[in-house]
Amino acid sequence: MTNQASTNGLSSRKPHFILVPLIAQGHMIPMVDLARLLAEQGARVSLITTPVNAARIKAIVDRVKESGLPIHFVELQFPCAEAGLPDGCENVDLLPSNDYFRTIFDAIPRLREPLARYLRAQRPRPTCMIADMCNPWTADVARELGMPRLIFHGPSCFFILGVHLMEQHGIYDRITDDFEPVLLPELPQPVEVTKAQLPGFFWSKGWEKLRSEALEAESTADGVVMNTFDDMEHSYIELYKKVAGKEVWTIGPLCLYNKDLDNKAARGNKPVIDHHRVLCWLDSRKPKSVLYASFGSLLRMRPWELIEVGYGLEASNQPFIWVIKDVERTSEVDKWLSEGFEERVSTRGLVIKGWAPQVVILSHPAIGGFMTHCGWNSVMEAVSAGVPMITWPCFSDQFVNEKLVVDVLGVGVAIGVKVPFYYINEDSPSAAKRNDIGKAVSRLMDEGEEGEERRKRARKLAEKAVSAMEGGGSSLENIACLIQYALKHGHDDSDQEEEHSA
Ligand code: UDP
Repeated sequence: MTNQASTNGLSSRKPHFILVPLIAQGHMIPMVDLARLLAEQGARVSLITTPVNAARIKAIVDRVKESGLPIHFVELQFPCAEAGLPDGCENVDLLPSNDYFRTIFDAIPRLREPLARYLRAQRPRPTCMIADMCNPWTADVARELGMPRLIFHGPSCFFILGVHLMEQHGIYDRITDDFEPVLLPELPQPVEVTKAQLPGFFWSKGWEKLRSEALEAESTADGVVMNTFDDMEHSYIELYKKVAGKEVWTIGPLCLYNKDLDNKAARGNKPVIDHHRVLCWLDSRKPKSVLYASFGSLLRMRPWELIEVGYGLEASNQPFIWVIKDVERTSEVDKWLSEGFEERVSTRGLVIKGWAPQVVILSHPAIGGFMTHCGWNSVMEAVSAGVPMITWPCFSDQFVNEKLVVDVLGVGVAIGVKVPFYYINEDSPSAAKRNDIGKAVSRLMDEGEEGEERRKRARKLAEKAVSAMEGGGSSLENIACLIQYALKHGHDDSDQEEEHSA
């Protein structure tokens, strides 16, 4: 690839980006892709991480070293003991229970001083910071060092825009009932949501400080970087630019950075199953016949929900791959799996217990559908692979992502859940049951006209996603613009750089 930064006449310098992801898989994975993309396009990158997180992506770190990409993985010690976290809990998906959620968010800003110390010592000075929206403590650091700071938004633009519209039109304050439907104002088409479905950033009681800090850090940022692409969210991106008054660079789908198999398999964590074994299993299936069921890295399904998913998959009579996280494997779940279920489905079902090589799986031609919680990375990965979805949103941005997938893009079938998982128990009428799963699977995998049309739309969308990330595509162009922005607005230490590299 060409070095975009050096061909624009602005400078022969390489800008040095500091990337500060939130330590959660759905935020780190796209930032690691972004780091490699920026480096390949001519920038130097320092990715801020911690020892446990760096060890989890060792395969990627090694590949970066081998390829000579100018990326430095900066390991800051994470203060587990001082913060009251069990040793090694350096990522949200490693917490022993959701009770530690608040503790880890209180611990993260303790990285402020170590980060500032590291950056102060850098010569030449770094050019530009890209920090996750959930890391508002980075604003002070960038200010002190006088470098431009851009926000990285993990969710869809549709969701971020929705939050801003709800805020600016006073809907969060005006509506007291979490389940009252409201029409989102200003959108090109009618979209109805409830406050429970579009809760805003850090909306829970007791999180007000982080919420206002995050909003403040967004409003004072010099721009916004989003993992989406123009052809898919064009009208929302344009409206967001207006509403937020910010320059926006859409640089996705970032998962498409990973072209070869080993890169795809190394994302996020070491898979519990060798990806060649999964591919072998998929090779023996008919094209578009397998359903992939996985619910991201954060959601912890309760035993009764998992068992219901299992019965639904069994009743669907469809080949499937089902991912169950380690933290979800209670003795009840393990007992249920081993006492009959795994044997009954053994000829057509593969249960992965632990981290799965998701992008490898989704890219295989035997995959015909993805049952997903609608985490934004999962949606982008399905879109990129042209795989239609069964949408089962659970919390945060996921209900709004579902609306985009099902109502706007027409590439999904909704399972029918209308309220976040914390409002639902086993006896709630709103819980998804095995029959709902069975019905959604047959609708999605249906070989009739409706299913065919949906597959066609998914294929077309994937073509658009791929072209956004190819030479001349909107996202790759935006990466080049980002590099130029950093060169124009960041420090100009070119004298020092010449000395440094001499
Ligand atoms: N993922 C994976 N293997 C797993 C579980 C998750 O590779 O077994 C990846 C998935 O491909 C995605 C990320 O983890 O990139 C999850 O992010 P998402 O936004 O979908 O959901 P979250 O975990 O934030 O709820």
